[in-house]
Amino acid sequence: MTNFFNTKLEFLKGVGPMRAELLQKEMGMFTYGDLIQHYPFRYLDRTQFYKVAELDESMPYVQVRGRVRGKQILGEGRKQRLSAILVDEAGDELELVWFKGVKWMEKSLKNHTDYIVFGKPTAFNGKYNMAHPELEDLTEEKQTTAFLQPVYNTTEKLKAHRIDSKVISRMMEMLLKVALPQIQETLSQDLIDQYRLMDKRSAMANIHFPESAEKYTAAKFRLKFEELFYIQLRLFRQKLVRKSDLEGQIFRNTATLTDFYKNHLTFDLTGAQKRVIKEIYKDLTTGKQMNRLLQGDVGSGKTIVAFITMLIAADNGAQSVLMAPTEILAGQHYIGLKQFADSLGINIGKLTGSTKAKDRKILHEQLRSGEMKMIVGTHALLEDVVQFHNLGLCIVDEQHRFGVEQRSKLWRKNPRIIPHVLVMTATPIPRTLAMTLYGDLDVSVIDEMPAGRKDIITVHRFDSHRLRVFQFIRDEIKLGRQVYIVYPLIEESEQMENYKDLMDGFESVQRAFPEYKVSMVHGKMKPQDKDYEMQRFVKHETHIMVATTVIEVGVNVPNASVMVIESAERFGLSQLHQLRGRVGRGAEQSYCILMTGYKIGKDTKVRIETMVRTNNGFEIADIDLKLRGPGDLMGTQQSGVLDLLIADLSKDAPILQEARAASQRVLKEDPMLEQAQNQNIRRHIQSLSTASRNWSRIS
Ligand code: ADP
Ligand code: MG
Repeated sequence: MTNFFNTKLEFLKGVGPMRAELLQKEMGMFTYGDLIQHYPFRYLDRTQFYKVAELDESMPYVQVRGRVRGKQILGEGRKQRLSAILVDEAGDELELVWFKGVKWMEKSLKNHTDYIVFGKPTAFNGKYNMAHPELEDLTEEKQTTAFLQPVYNTTEKLKAHRIDSKVISRMMEMLLKVALPQIQETLSQDLIDQYRLMDKRSAMANIHFPESAEKYTAAKFRLKFEELFYIQLRLFRQKLVRKSDLEGQIFRNTATLTDFYKNHLTFDLTGAQKRVIKEIYKDLTTGKQMNRLLQGDVGSGKTIVAFITMLIAADNGAQSVLMAPTEILAGQHYIGLKQFADSLGINIGKLTGSTKAKDRKILHEQLRSGEMKMIVGTHALLEDVVQFHNLGLCIVDEQHRFGVEQRSKLWRKNPRIIPHVLVMTATPIPRTLAMTLYGDLDVSVIDEMPAGRKDIITVHRFDSHRLRVFQFIRDEIKLGRQVYIVYPLIEESEQMENYKDLMDGFESVQRAFPEYKVSMVHGKMKPQDKDYEMQRFVKHETHIMVATTVIEVGVNVPNASVMVIESAERFGLSQLHQLRGRVGRGAEQSYCILMTGYKIGKDTKVRIETMVRTNNGFEIADIDLKLRGPGDLMGTQQSGVLDLLIADLSKDAPILQEARAASQRVLKEDPMLEQAQNQNIRRHIQSLSTASRNWSRIS
């Protein structure tokens, strides 16, 4: 299987080096295997015919059968167009229009001839027309066998080079001819029987060129099932290995924790916090290594849970680290934790890229000797010079910003016994997604906000009402509050021109509020400058913080009560929710104001309405998943993680459940996949792990 499907696309008949290079650059398709897994993103139903009287503008592509009665070229020069009239059985008329290739069409379109036309119907002056329809000359009698015709994704550039869906479809036909005999079954006969699955070869044939609607449905189910089955199988195998193999330190002692609860904790933990701490404590006493994901909406109080976990480690003679993705976040965590640690006389440190060499040396020594119990920091913690006396716990905040490699570097800092791991995330992940992404982690959820927290009031305002919004800001500042104003920015392209919106915004805010001090932070600033500006805002030396999404994660300024988001249409739903989470952290009523122009699209409308309606992060994550698909949800860095080829987590939860049960059962009966009936599965796993595509990205 491997060799054949690794064949370069240029060797496929009808492709050649030029097209192969384009497909590679534009679509990331290198091999036969890549092309064959480029499934159609939709199909055209060529079995269904409509009458003109049945047409309606909401219809996507439809086909109509009729006879061409008259054609003429209208207009002059660039405005020239070809107009033809198609009359259906009932005698109703549909206008066909071409704006391009007018002369050529005029010649080839045969008058008084029966055609099937295919395109999108549009209404104009109470009549329907179809621009640039596809035509099938019925007198030519070449019957199309395909019930559903595949439509493939392409790019503008590919289309410009005449590689459109039709051309890809022809390549696919060529490929299937040679490839089908090479396709091997990837599931066991048992599974195929039990779930009544279509065999792999037929599934591949029918997903591209369905022979019937039933076969298409069966093919789709089979391929989705297989995809989800293998994701789950891999996660369960990891879990199996981990559960049986990895020993963990036992942390039973809780003397200091009890002291902390009794004498130093100034608020009552929420029910959810208590439950989560119990779950963690249980893990720490089993003798197995903990691997737990702690999920909690912004402001739900994850920091104290982190501290208590670190405290349990310290109580048992182990050191712990808390690693954050940015300087700012590490700084905030440090301030938060130090407050608690100081009350107990526990030695805690901070190590980031900007820690001075002299301080660094002291930190390194104290970590090595075990004198320092807790350390908070950034990637700087991963350096080889950072060594521990006995590292027993690693907490990673906002984990999706760290790669697997980086994280495992931390785990290896205790050569004797792997540290317990707690991963914290503020991105609420819908259940289906959590199951797929983190099937190998145990999950704890803080689903309750600390008492007395007021829901943030969210409103939508048009740009034209900016003066009123500014007045509102002024009133809030007069009451002693602080304000964030956020501008969109594409983070990957760190070009200075992208900062234009932000800079313009900064200037106009300064002009509008001459009586107040304005801070600004963005990703292009040096960490020290960013920190400095941030600290000025934290210390209330400035009143307004103009920023990009760099403030999205973690920053905690309880006195800030207004979050204005400019060009809100340019943010995703989860991102808007994350940004909103920067306010509402104190006792005061907080507000989030979403600014847009008058013209907004349908999706934007849904996003904004959702934000206005609810503060519930899980509900928002679910809607976001439906709007954007799972890849986007986790941010660009993780989008590769769930590069699902065919399954759709927002729709396929039932299949996921079945695939999950199936993979669990297979492993339960045959953990090492040694039985004869599971050899297809075993072979496929091996080919997946060497093929790297899709597979290595998951984790
Ligand atoms: P996040 O989950 O976003 O990291 P934090 O841990 O920063 O949230 O907590 C947000 C704020 O809520 C902090 O000021 C924290 O001290 C406070 N807090 C946490 N738990 C409670 C609680 N049980 N009761 C009252 N305030 C709490
Ligand atoms: Mg936090």
